Amino acid sequence: MKILAFAVALLVAASLSIPVVQAADAEKPPRLVLQITVDALRGDLPRRYAHILGDGGFRYLMDNGINYTNAHYRHANTETIVGHVSLATGTVPAAHGMVGNVWFDRELDRMTYNIEDPRYHLLSVGADVDQKTEIDPTQKAAKVDGRSPAAILSSTFSDELAVHYGARSKIFGVSVKDRGAVSLAGHAGKAFWFSKSTGEFVTSNYYYEKYPQWVTAWNARKLAQSYAGESWELTHESSAYLFGDADDREYETDFPGFGRTFPHPYGEAGDKYLTTRLTLGPAGDELTLDFAKTLLDNEQLGQDEVPDYLAISFSSTDYVGHIFGASSLESEENIARLDRTLADLLAYVDQKVGLANTLIVLSADHGQPEVPGHLHELGIEDAQFFDTEALDKTPAIAALKKKFGVGEELIQAYSQPYVYLNQDLIREMDLDQAAVELAVAEELEKFDGVAAAVSSTALRTSSLPDTLLMRSILRNFHPKRSGDIYLVFEPNVFINDFDGLIVSSTHGSPWRYDTFVPVIFAGAGLQPMTVSREIAPYDIAPTLAGYLGVKPPSAAIGNPLPEVLGD
Ligand SMILES: [Zn+2]
Repeated sequence: MKILAFAVALLVAASLSIPVVQAADAEKPPRLVLQITVDALRGDLPRRYAHILGDGGFRYLMDNGINYTNAHYRHANTETIVGHVSLATGTVPAAHGMVGNVWFDRELDRMTYNIEDPRYHLLSVGADVDQKTEIDPTQKAAKVDGRSPAAILSSTFSDELAVHYGARSKIFGVSVKDRGAVSLAGHAGKAFWFSKSTGEFVTSNYYYEKYPQWVTAWNARKLAQSYAGESWELTHESSAYLFGDADDREYETDFPGFGRTFPHPYGEAGDKYLTTRLTLGPAGDELTLDFAKTLLDNEQLGQDEVPDYLAISFSSTDYVGHIFGASSLESEENIARLDRTLADLLAYVDQKVGLANTLIVLSADHGQPEVPGHLHELGIEDAQFFDTEALDKTPAIAALKKKFGVGEELIQAYSQPYVYLNQDLIREMDLDQAAVELAVAEELEKFDGVAAAVSSTALRTSSLPDTLLMRSILRNFHPKRSGDIYLVFEPNVFINDFDGLIVSSTHGSPWRYDTFVPVIFAGAGLQPMTVSREIAPYDIAPTLAGYLGVKPPSAAIGNPLPEVLGD
């Protein structure tokens, strides 16, 4: 059928003198699949800040691509690894297993970081997370330096590409965040990420025995260190920005040495927070771009008939959101700079591979909330921060302990979003696990700011009302990794304590500001279109698979998008 349709198209085109380049390309698979993820890019942000965008970046994608303007995740815990792996696998955490950035491993009897793996090590000495300077509390949870995708329980699109082409397809993931790279590279690809300890892009011996020569050469350039003494400055006159006269806000995080107003200094050479500050602004994305371009060139991606895959996750938007909020001059300027980074990337791919030969998809791992202080300025009063310290110290929980006759350790751990009960204690005391869960959940629901506390036993036995919220929590439930009670805060209520560093906002909720992300397919001769029908980012991996004629990832639940497949 396709050959016949193509022949007819050729005849029609010949008679009308229409160029047939795109139709001819459509018969062949693209040479490169470029999957761009912007960490925490809420779905409205590119259009909201459109006045600050140039040509060739977001504008190219929005004007020339298939733009899905109503894409939402349907799992409850909208955190980074959860979203990235959902993008990679086309399924929900209940199936791919990444229920949170960290979870309590009951066998190890400790919190564990999503991609830590004691069987492997980083290839670089001294590149492990520095517990003294790391500000990302989830990174600090890792107890070993090794990283691998072993905890991802289903296959990724990139895995399926490798299977389909018998490993002739080259597959890479790159990000500032290790979890942004490892997730999308899948089990078969190679991943590189930024070490704040060394300022280098690193990998583990899951992927390589030693670095490819070009990686060693890139790291020898010491590009991160070249930012020493420089500052993040505004690109335009302040009048060009929506928030041009609102730079200094008391609810923004005053990160040491970086400040709340422009220019934000990165610090001098040797400053132990220099590399951290690079990630809190657009420099982190610029480093990622430079590394990805070097990779594309040296690994000769997109240079033959077998499709290659490059996933790039840009992390700066997430950190800028946490520190300054989505409605800040810093966020607006960051989007302007990200737009230039994207334009640079697309121009480079066009030059090396050709955008007609490249299938591009851009999305995000989650959205982000507004800062309560900003909402208060607008008269929206209910926004607040939640004090988790209060959880285990209240009279209500004390009364519960008394009721069940237990001591201090009824709640073993709380790590967003799960409360972990002390199951050993519950067993030893011959208590009924379900009854304890239910009683604790009932008490938690009495807290101001708590929308729901959902017992895992209730999830297992389907004894909960069939609501959108309960479904999203069920989609997040994995029996071996989920905690005993899932805690949901009211909209605009969240925890802002990053292990001591007080941040402006934290995503992770099931509410629409955290589930809302852009999904744009472009390149490869796709015709521009805006689609407002609700879709989910789980559709992306099955769409890539369908487009390339590859079988879908093993646990995919998303549907191929007909506008991309041309159905
Ligand atoms: Zn994220």
